Amino acid sequence: MDARLGDVIDDFCVKCRRLTNHSVVSLLNGAAAKVRCRTCYSDHDYRNEQAPPSKKDLKKAELFNAVLLGVAPPPAAPEEAADGVGSKKSAKKPGKPAEA
Ligand SMILES: [Zn+2]
Repeated sequence: MDARLGDVIDDFCVKCRRLTNHSVVSLLNGAAAKVRCRTCYSDHDYRNEQAPPSKKDLKKAELFNAVLLGVAPPPAAPEEAADGVGSKKSAKKPGKPAEA
């Protein structure tokens, strides 16, 4: 199923930011090489209907990988770890001297 010039195919348009109808304007080895969005009429390489990763996504992936690779320390344990040592939970303050 070779594409032909003028064929209308779906592709992702970065300007429209969605899949739109495109006309084939250039062929390479029987496949669409360049297409023109029929909504905004911009030409671009045929992307096989794949949306290019946005810069935001790239950044996100970068962060994600950094977290995976990094040796992020686990959240600090709560202070109850110091068990019993110096616990003054039940210690009472010395009362006033009894007044006889
Ligand atoms: Zn478009």
